[in-house]
Amino acid sequence: MHRGAIEVLELELVEEMLILFPPFYVVAARKLDFMRPQICAPGRSHFSTAVEPSSSKSNPPRVPNLIGGRFVDSKSSTVIDVINPATQEVVSQVPLSTDEEFKAAVSAAKKAYPLWRNTPITTRQRVMLKFQELIRRDMDKLALNVTTEQGKTLKDAQGDVFRGLEVVEHACGMATLQMGEYVSNVSHGIDTYSIREPLGVCAGICPFNFPAMIPLWMFPVAVTCGNTFVLKPSEKDPELALEAGLPEGVLNIVHGTHVCDHLDIVNSICDDDDIKAISFVGSNVAGMHIYSRAAAKGKRVQSNMGAKNHAIVLPDANVDATLNALVAAGFGAAGQRCMALSTVIFVGDAKSWKAKLVERAKALKVNAGTEPDTDLGPVISKQAKERIHKLVKSGVESGAKLLLDGRNIVVPGYESGNFIGPTILSDITTNMECYKEEIFGPVLLFMEADSLEEAISIINSNKYGNGASIFTTSGVAARKFQTEIEAGQVGINVPIPVPLPFFSFTGNKASFAGDLNFYDNVVCCSLVEPFDPILEKNTQRIALQTLYLKEDKDEEPKEDLEILVSFIMMTLRRKKNPK
Ligand code: NAD
Repeated sequence: MHRGAIEVLELELVEEMLILFPPFYVVAARKLDFMRPQICAPGRSHFSTAVEPSSSKSNPPRVPNLIGGRFVDSKSSTVIDVINPATQEVVSQVPLSTDEEFKAAVSAAKKAYPLWRNTPITTRQRVMLKFQELIRRDMDKLALNVTTEQGKTLKDAQGDVFRGLEVVEHACGMATLQMGEYVSNVSHGIDTYSIREPLGVCAGICPFNFPAMIPLWMFPVAVTCGNTFVLKPSEKDPELALEAGLPEGVLNIVHGTHVCDHLDIVNSICDDDDIKAISFVGSNVAGMHIYSRAAAKGKRVQSNMGAKNHAIVLPDANVDATLNALVAAGFGAAGQRCMALSTVIFVGDAKSWKAKLVERAKALKVNAGTEPDTDLGPVISKQAKERIHKLVKSGVESGAKLLLDGRNIVVPGYESGNFIGPTILSDITTNMECYKEEIFGPVLLFMEADSLEEAISIINSNKYGNGASIFTTSGVAARKFQTEIEAGQVGINVPIPVPLPFFSFTGNKASFAGDLNFYDNVVCCSLVEPFDPILEKNTQRIALQTLYLKEDKDEEPKEDLEILVSFIMMTLRRKKNPK
């Protein structure tokens, strides 16, 4: 096949495969209660957010595998139900891919690799260009899928797709990012150059909370670099990833979880000798297991894990903008974001801040994600809800004050949904379980500190280091925070400082394991010669976002903040900001 033919074929396939696949039905899908993922997980804590198989309506669609360019129904009779968290309706069923299916997916990826890596980078870019066009075209449909499976509001779901789309757009410019280095005449008549090469078959293991964005963090960059890919979406909301499209075998999708007495697809991915690199996003138990198991097999692994993101509020912070930011970051997406704000540390007098925050949090509308004007939807599963309840209870039992309790909320029309209203606990101390554990729900913790130094030291002592923010109008304080804080993403008057794809998404301490950060084009390429081993090994990246540093407290930067907040996907838009 000559090159022109390959290009045409690729574009046609992209289009074809992006059309929603027809549902696959089976006569009798057997549900096995013992398949609950958390039961067999090595070291899984009782705070698991894993789904449980539920009672299913008859014949829900089965999510197929994507192997060698074809959607194929799994032969497996072991399934996990995908449940709409607002209604408990079984949206679909995920059969756990069999060992043969997993091997077929890896083998398809391996077979596709030589042709794909030799396909010109311009052609690979063009596939991404087409892909981004199709994602834009289907944005609303994709967002609705996300809301149905995952529960977040439609606006949040659109943000989910949009942030993934930005990575695809970034991959469209891969050619220049792939440039190597060259020095002539390093010795008499000898020139040296380094080039970036793809690794081979790469794999991605995804969490439930960003079913569009996180798969799109993973495979677009990897495949545009010339790798082929095996993706395992979250078993809790897997369908969206199936709508991606590339030439036969370049992208393969398998399903499953981690269980002891059956195929453990996660371990299969870690152990398979043909898989050269793994991108993982999810909790720490899973992430550290995958990191150590796969690294022991010599794979390149990047593991983005749990978080406990803090914000420091100084007395000189702009009141209205700070309150907006804290409420949006604390309760948006029902707190199920790795960059959600979970702890606020007030320096100085906290009383009026607390009262105002409670007032604003109370005004948020809790409802199904599909309902208009919803500020926060349900949490992913009954187990997740129970786990959040337990953590709140344990906080109260250890002396925290419950300033706002959203645990008993009932949403009319969605009485069986996994809803939790905004919840606020104050008087938190660092030894409390609710502080030590990632809550991953709409719960905000309040702490107090006498000085900026003390607040920074609390944050630096926390085991996690995904993100941290400060709210202040003092440039001196902001700079001190920026230089002393131990977190991957640092925000100054920005609540959730998530960098765009031309930076990379990072993490610090227990929030990240690996050497190379996400959607950096270096991730999925090997270098023939490392270009700067000393720098690579001895530095870590920090993504910093600064909104404003103003001396004038009365001048409100609300507009700017709102633009940025929506830009970074915070979608709790408030029509009026109560004072
Ligand atoms: P999870 O760890 O339960 O699941 C993630 C993936 O790992 C799934 O595909 C699942 O099948 C697999 N898995 C689960 N438990 C496992 C185990 N014990 N052994 C091996 N594999 C296992 O995570 P989740 O509940 O889907 O997602 C929420 C978590 O993800 C939170 O901790 C959140 O902070 C984290 N997260 C982190 C980032 C980041 O960039 N740092 C982004 C999004 C989510």
